[in-house]
Amino acid sequence: MTVTKSYIAKSVENMRPSGIRKFFDLAATMEGVVSLGVGEPDFVTSWSVREAAISSLERGFTSYTANAGLIELRREIAHYMATRFQVHYSPQDEIIVTVGASQAIDIAMRAITDLGDEIIVVEPCFVSYAPLVELAGGKAVTIGTTGDSGFKLQPEQLEAAITSKTKAVLLCYPNNPTGTQLDKEDLELIADIVKKHDLLVIADEIYAELAYDQDHTSIASLDGMRERTILINGFSKGFAMTGWRLGFTCAPVEISGAMLKIHQYAMMCASTPAQYGAIEALQHGMTDVESMKKDYRQRRNYVVQSFNELGLDCHLPGGAFYVFPSIQSTGLTSEQFAEQLLLEEKVAVVPGSVFGKGGEGYIRCSYASSMAQLQEAVKRIGRFIEKKQTN
Ligand code: PMP
Repeated sequence: MTVTKSYIAKSVENMRPSGIRKFFDLAATMEGVVSLGVGEPDFVTSWSVREAAISSLERGFTSYTANAGLIELRREIAHYMATRFQVHYSPQDEIIVTVGASQAIDIAMRAITDLGDEIIVVEPCFVSYAPLVELAGGKAVTIGTTGDSGFKLQPEQLEAAITSKTKAVLLCYPNNPTGTQLDKEDLELIADIVKKHDLLVIADEIYAELAYDQDHTSIASLDGMRERTILINGFSKGFAMTGWRLGFTCAPVEISGAMLKIHQYAMMCASTPAQYGAIEALQHGMTDVESMKKDYRQRRNYVVQSFNELGLDCHLPGGAFYVFPSIQSTGLTSEQFAEQLLLEEKVAVVPGSVFGKGGEGYIRCSYASSMAQLQEAVKRIGRFIEKKQTN
């Protein structure tokens, strides 16, 4: 019998595919493309970390781990979070090792969201947030930050978005795509509102290691915030381990317990060899992290200065490995800019519009690329802009 109906759930049918993919797919068909498109380190994971994973396999550690992850790894994470960010979590029942920060965000959403609950999502932001809120049965209430404020959430914007249905605010800093970092004062203003309205914060701090101008402050370290924060972090960015698929959550025991219920049924546990690698990364990997960070900082300064010289207004972002220059002077939309730049000059960037409110008029450029590639990209973008201005 022929199939006459769609079996696809409405929630999935209505989901838009990620706008980033379209450009990667197009770029993949072309030769000689300089890509500032991808959101991942250009460094290979440290050798000692790779060796630790290999050694775990050689020793025959090929079984499942505990659902929440190897206790040795959770102890290392607890120690790392306490010493790096002054936040204290019990390795026994407040830390879960996940399949990337991506899965951590998913279980955080599903653990706290009842049908119709509102989660405030601050945009421009990582493309997975709103779809994951909606898959969890919630409603993503989006706030757009603007270039004028350096893409920082303004307290009055947050106040205005809160309703009786609001359950949580999702923050990401240093931010993808803007690179914006929030300092302690910014976070305190947000925390006061969150406490006043008795809300939760989901803090995606995956780029915490890549904060260039001052040490990262975790919102969970502020007075009264530990009990109302779900921290998301992981190894992909700072430790250059995207393909290992390893992240983690830190949250008070009750919320961690709820997330673990989902994790144990949906995922069982994260990859065992990856967890052995991560133990090594936390024990001996910080020198490499610092050295990658030094390189990123240099590249950031070069790219920001170059874009401003080309007339693309670009704020100096405090972290991550993205810059978010304005392309408004060209009169093109961000999608037109990205498409024409790719076809005419073979440089891949991502249009700001795919990151939600506040993103139009900007492009995301990742500087997780060699200096030579960045210099070539700047040359081509300069040529492109000149052409657009004379047309
Ligand atoms: N959060 C943000 C803000 C990101 O940019 C990314 C990756 N691009 C993730 C989470 C997902 O990271 P992971 O590789 O750990 O799943």
